[in-house]
Amino acid sequence: MYKKLHLRLTILFTGMSAAILVIMSLSYLYMSEKDLKDNYFLSFQSKINDFTATLEQQNTLSWDWLKKTAARQNFTLTFYDNETPLSYNQLMLSKTELELTSEVIDYAMEVILPELENGSTYSAAHKEFFWDSKENGHFYASVLKIRKNAGTLTGIILLSLESYTNQITRQRMRFLLLNIIGIGVLFFVSYFFTGKLLTPVIEARQKQNAFIAAASHELRTPIAVICSAASAAKAANGPKQERFFHIIEKESLMLSTLTDDLLLLNRADSGRLILNIESVELDTLLLNCYESFEPLVREHKQTLQVLLPKGTIPCCRCDKERICQVLSILISNAVSYGKSGGYIKLELSYSQSVFWITVEDNGIGIADKDKPYIFDRFYRVDESRSEKEHFGLGLCIAKEIIETHGGSINLADNPEGGTRFFLLLKAV
Ligand code: ADP
Repeated sequence: MYKKLHLRLTILFTGMSAAILVIMSLSYLYMSEKDLKDNYFLSFQSKINDFTATLEQQNTLSWDWLKKTAARQNFTLTFYDNETPLSYNQLMLSKTELELTSEVIDYAMEVILPELENGSTYSAAHKEFFWDSKENGHFYASVLKIRKNAGTLTGIILLSLESYTNQITRQRMRFLLLNIIGIGVLFFVSYFFTGKLLTPVIEARQKQNAFIAAASHELRTPIAVICSAASAAKAANGPKQERFFHIIEKESLMLSTLTDDLLLLNRADSGRLILNIESVELDTLLLNCYESFEPLVREHKQTLQVLLPKGTIPCCRCDKERICQVLSILISNAVSYGKSGGYIKLELSYSQSVFWITVEDNGIGIADKDKPYIFDRFYRVDESRSEKEHFGLGLCIAKEIIETHGGSINLADNPEGGTRFFLLLKAV
């Protein structure tokens, strides 16, 4: 599924970038071709100006000079003396060139020459234009007229645009090649970046799948127990039946706790974990926790101590119920993973608008290899050592609650053995 999405996104990004690249290249190409064409025409016009000026100065037309100029400038020259073709034309031009000039002279006679005659009072006049010969290609053409003595010399000058066309074709091919390479590079770059873009989505999806699998696994056990106890209860009676009902009740309570935990995590994930923020005296809160847990701690043959700062401390802006829930998780863990005869210490301190709450035990401790995963969902160090109602969700719920408060939760080894959890809460 993600492979397809990855490819689709790559194609989408490449397509969009390629479209921009192609549009920009075409615009550049259009402008550069237009410039090239204008320059080519201007340079042709300036060559014709020079050519006409030199021609005007000559009393007798030098064939040798004409031949050399035609070769140097790549011109095809044809001349008419009072509308009679010069023998130069027949001698110097090929059959194709003669055909071509006869095409142009027809047009020149009809359109250009009348214009030159009407418009020009000078002894020499010329006009340049583009000539598209169906059979011989594209040309720039110039028709010039020089009045000399009693006669008139008419010339047709043609410059083949073959080299210009070749230059344009080469430029277009270079652009095409560059665009193909560019699109190829864009494809690989897009593939790489969309891959990077999708990584967190894929990871989130994998985490969600793992979460659902683990949640289903945890839900299955109590449901199976409830089902079998219910069917056994139907067949039993008296105290036996009573025992089955007790099992159903206990497992249902566990299911209820588990679903509450799952709902809380779901709310935290979707940013819907609403806190009921109020001013809370944390020392009183710790004492309340002490009172609630003392009997359980005693039952486990452990001791519970509370250490509070001397003097008065400011109130903390937090959700009393949720902070109580976090402390319950930590104390209940300390009881479960503590040792008989061990101690649990709750300590509150305050400095520079920060509250620190420490929950310390001298129990089995947490190995370094497990520490990075201890806040992961459904993570239990040793499942066989965990009690049935421990789903591996306590610490991640504590983390979500504390982080929603803008605080942090960390752990360290207790130098006397066991674990020390630190909660940081901001005073404001
Ligand atoms: P659980 O509901 O299983 O206790 P938690 O998320 O609260 O889940 O804890 C995750 C795991 O971290 C526990 O299974 C346990 O192995 C370990 N752990 C948590 N607190 C302590 C502690 N105080 N001492 C030793 N191990 C602990």
